[in-house]
Amino acid sequence: AGLTLASALVLSACGSSEKTVDQQPTSTEGALIGVTMPTRASERWIRDGDNVKKALEDKGYKVDLQYAENDIPTQANQIENQITKGARALIVASIDAKSLSSQLQAAADAKIPVISYDRLLLDSPNVDYYASFDNFKVGVQQATSLLTGLKVLNPDGSPGTAKGPLNVELFAGSPDDNNSSYFYDGAMSVLEKYIGDGTLVVKSGQKDFKTMAILRWDPATAQRRMEDLLTSTYGSARVDGVLSPYDGISIGILSALKSGGYGTAGQPYPIVTGQDAEVASVKSIVADEQYSTIFKDIRELAKAAADMADAVVQGKDPKVNNTEDYDNGEKVVPAILLQPVIVEKSNYVKELVDTGYYTADQLK
Ligand code: BGC
Repeated sequence: AGLTLASALVLSACGSSEKTVDQQPTSTEGALIGVTMPTRASERWIRDGDNVKKALEDKGYKVDLQYAENDIPTQANQIENQITKGARALIVASIDAKSLSSQLQAAADAKIPVISYDRLLLDSPNVDYYASFDNFKVGVQQATSLLTGLKVLNPDGSPGTAKGPLNVELFAGSPDDNNSSYFYDGAMSVLEKYIGDGTLVVKSGQKDFKTMAILRWDPATAQRRMEDLLTSTYGSARVDGVLSPYDGISIGILSALKSGGYGTAGQPYPIVTGQDAEVASVKSIVADEQYSTIFKDIRELAKAAADMADAVVQGKDPKVNNTEDYDNGEKVVPAILLQPVIVEKSNYVKELVDTGYYTADQLK
């Protein structure tokens, strides 16, 4: 058969160095997936990156894994590079939920599907799927463990022995991370009642999200805020509890408390919550410093995101279990949400060691 005009055009187009989606190989073996993570400053993201990469490589993909050290333009560049390199799907854990819209548009123009990882990308129609945990529930669990630690509630949820008034302070995560308001709203849905009836007193009066939010989840910023709260508000009064949204922030809070004279037999630490079950914080829980953390099994999250990427690259519909809750301002993003677990001293072995998340040695 002679060369038709159409196939001649296709051949000449293939000769051009401009790669378009239509000319990419249809086989998924060896196809490239771009993975961008926010920072190496926290253990969890290092593990997330490693786990996602491994899960994708096990499926035969090539992976470009990048960290942006919390610098927004760096992350934008990394995504642009992945698009240029011909990535067939992008998995993005953003720094600022709203600042990647033009990169996401470029991905959509090149027909590259985007999976929002752990943190929802906002204000863009070009977000195809979301893999995360039930973030509202994380907040509910943080508040619940604050209340059980304070003995306002018994572990079974019945009223405990403490009636208050108990002094508490509240911290929230980074204001540019969509999860932060979910954690805050979840926590407040539980705490409001106890603040309302005077069982808990936010002695500083700082109860709104903006005043308590810690930009980029930075431990040093949290430490400074706790130091300021102790000086401005506490004097001879005692802080009984601190709602902390993340283990790194809890470490900052605990070190401010230590400088403020807490952590002795006569003046034990307040009940301090956390999130991520990072090694230093689990050790701190075992040492009776931090009270609790929220364990999110990121091995499962990595698998779920890799399965999603694999499905979209193959043109299949990935598994989702929530099509209602995550509106990103442009669309409701279909999501797969995993379940978080409260971890305290009483159950850390069962949840973290028996499940193989950590070895007993890592926590020594
Ligand atoms: C994640 C948390 C983490 C926090 C700080 C949030 O988006 O969901 O697991 O503690 O970022 O890295």
